[in-house]
Amino acid sequence: MAGTVELLDISRAWLVDPVAGREGPGEIVVRDGILDAVTWLDGADAEGIGPDGLVVAPGFLDLHVHLREPGNEDAETVATGQAAAAHGGFTSVCAMPNTTPAADEPSVLARVYAAAAASGSPVEVLAHGAVTVGRAGERLAALGELADAGAVGFSDDGGPVKSAVLMRNALLYLGMLGRPIFEHSEDPSLTAGAEASEGVVASVLGLKGWPTAAEVGPVERAIALLREVLPDALGARLHLTHVSTAAALDAVRRAKAAGLPVTCDVTPHHLGFTDEWVAGARRWAWEALDADGAARDPWADGALVAHPYSTACRVNPPLRGAADAAACLAALVDGTADAVATDHAPHTHVDKEAEFGLAANGLSGVETALGVLLSAVAAGHLTLARAVAALTTGPAAVLGSVAGRRGADRGLVEGQPADLVVFDAGATWDVTAASLASKGKNSPLLGRALPGRVLLTVAGGRFAYRDAEA
Ligand SMILES: [Zn+2]
Repeated sequence: MAGTVELLDISRAWLVDPVAGREGPGEIVVRDGILDAVTWLDGADAEGIGPDGLVVAPGFLDLHVHLREPGNEDAETVATGQAAAAHGGFTSVCAMPNTTPAADEPSVLARVYAAAAASGSPVEVLAHGAVTVGRAGERLAALGELADAGAVGFSDDGGPVKSAVLMRNALLYLGMLGRPIFEHSEDPSLTAGAEASEGVVASVLGLKGWPTAAEVGPVERAIALLREVLPDALGARLHLTHVSTAAALDAVRRAKAAGLPVTCDVTPHHLGFTDEWVAGARRWAWEALDADGAARDPWADGALVAHPYSTACRVNPPLRGAADAAACLAALVDGTADAVATDHAPHTHVDKEAEFGLAANGLSGVETALGVLLSAVAAGHLTLARAVAALTTGPAAVLGSVAGRRGADRGLVEGQPADLVVFDAGATWDVTAASLASKGKNSPLLGRALPGRVLLTVAGGRFAYRDAEA
């Protein structure tokens, strides 16, 4: 499986190269692990080749996954996470530090990197370090040592950096180190006991509401802190991960317009799903809005097709209303969102087999991201080129100079180790517990057919994933 690609000849495909800003009919040849030839076709040779068939793109980069190792290997390991990533078309993933113990010192990062090397998978694992010791929010971790040990970013994800003064100091120190802070924006005083996004669905289901202000407030505050430390730490960079509300995205939009070094990502589930899914709807977010842009009533229009309270729909931040989901998609289209990151959060059956409000937060998403985005493409709400950029050049730019080795940075360039994904945009695959390589089967997409069947993932010149029928 993980051997060097001796010879791979993909003829008559749709090539997408976001580095070159080019897409169109073409052919590629990989020889001895090297992308040997990239040929763009035109005229009669190009006839019949479109973006709805075989697609070749650089390997995807996920800024935000939970690999659960060390400490919770029942939910996922580095190796199973790499396998899941490869099945999703990702050749690089960034592991969040909320493991047990937290990645707050170099030895924990070393364990993650050693597990990635030992797995035999060519999928690149990059690790984020914790901002504070034990993610406890009391004092800063040894940020410089973690950066030296290979931390590509820093986060207390799972929750926010607990105080404004720590956030300010972290922005200062990380600014000097040239590493971004990945902030999970949540005001815990507003979300204590919260279960579902505040709104009609939560009210009808009797779930405690999760206000949007719990995200907007910390986003505004982090931006204000960044603005203030920037003169003293010109390398400071604030990355807001899994932004889920229109108001927070507006704050990011304004900060970017003001020239601040702010970036953000949105998840496939926050742009593709809505809080209706907690009630049992499964239509895409863009199908849940009426002509005036207001959320439709799933009880009135027969949209409820699954049991309510599925804990696979419990995530943090929660699935939002259709207007917020539409804002996530719009932010992706207009570039306010630099990247799509999956927040892949595998959990054991036991941790999800609980009352809705007590179940673990998160869904297993690294394998279904492409399918959700291609569904938005098929519905005319997103271009294929933008979707690919949000999975490659967008996240690569967020990481900056610490990346620079894989397809997401280089594009489809000849003479370098092949790092690419080949998928059939016109073919579907069935999302089932068996078809997911992740140990985490906690996906509300189980039982559904998604477009964009991944046929091959080649990482660093080696096979990372091969469809049985490819
Ligand atoms: Zn988070």
